[in-house]
Amino acid sequence: MTKEEYRSILGQLPIKNPTAQDMARMCPHLTQDQAVKAFTTGEGYVACPPLRVRHRFQILSYRKEWVEEIKVSRVKDGTEDASVTGTKNYPPRLDWSYASRTLASYADGKSHGDVFGNYQHMDEAMKFAEANWGADLILDDWNSIVEFYVQDPTELVNDRYHKDYPRTKAVLYVTLNRELNEVINDHSKPQSELFDDAISQMTLDSVIWHELRGGRGGYTEFNCAHCGAGLSLSSCTGCGHRFRDDQFRCGWNTPLSQKMVAFLREKGHAFEVGPEIAWETEQRHFAEISKRLAESPRRRQ
Ligand SMILES: [Zn+2]
Ligand SMILES: [Zn+2]
Repeated sequence: MTKEEYRSILGQLPIKNPTAQDMARMCPHLTQDQAVKAFTTGEGYVACPPLRVRHRFQILSYRKEWVEEIKVSRVKDGTEDASVTGTKNYPPRLDWSYASRTLASYADGKSHGDVFGNYQHMDEAMKFAEANWGADLILDDWNSIVEFYVQDPTELVNDRYHKDYPRTKAVLYVTLNRELNEVINDHSKPQSELFDDAISQMTLDSVIWHELRGGRGGYTEFNCAHCGAGLSLSSCTGCGHRFRDDQFRCGWNTPLSQKMVAFLREKGHAFEVGPEIAWETEQRHFAEISKRLAESPRRRQ
């Protein structure tokens, strides 16, 4: 089995009313009997092969059928009385849960905020990945991980949950071999170039992102799907298209880096306005600031 084949099997989740065959298909590291037993006894969490990081593993879970009682409370004569007015049935369900890890997955051998747990069949899961796509597995040797939301301010979403919200076209997960704050406070080069120097892994796959992230906190930044520039609180710093401030973003003006744009283009994303314009603007600002700093009378020799 290849890693791509296994990833597409995971893409079939969630499965309602899973059969023994469904359970076995999700667990190529186990026999059908082992898979069924692991999912249907105890908590129902089963370790499955990792896709990218050595000594990590994915976790799938099985939830038995359950019946929810729908209650209505009334206060009658000063006492609350809850009566069951109906029930809702949830069929058994097999689903992806999260990724877990062992200490050995970190190149420096140190924990990075993790809680290590033991899961059924974790050793077989890691061995299976090693035997089938071991050449693709890497150790975690990065310092930080950033999610870049690539959102389009020329396409505003208005629905139950959003008002004039730029539509998310992709979420690019990037690992850096520096701390994000260090990159942001380093003014030796235009920021997108500093990002390019620090990038180690990139993926659009949230299942793989869980392996890459490990126990670290993550960071989120927002960039324009239309032109690649950074998104401020309520407009694009490049193309200027506006959207509503949702109070969640902090806003910045760093464009997606050259490596990020090349990766997104390779995966099929088309920028209506080439990010080359955003990079030129960034370079011009960087040159202006550098010149101003050099001319400053308070500059230390
Ligand atoms: Zn833009
Ligand atoms: Zn930010």
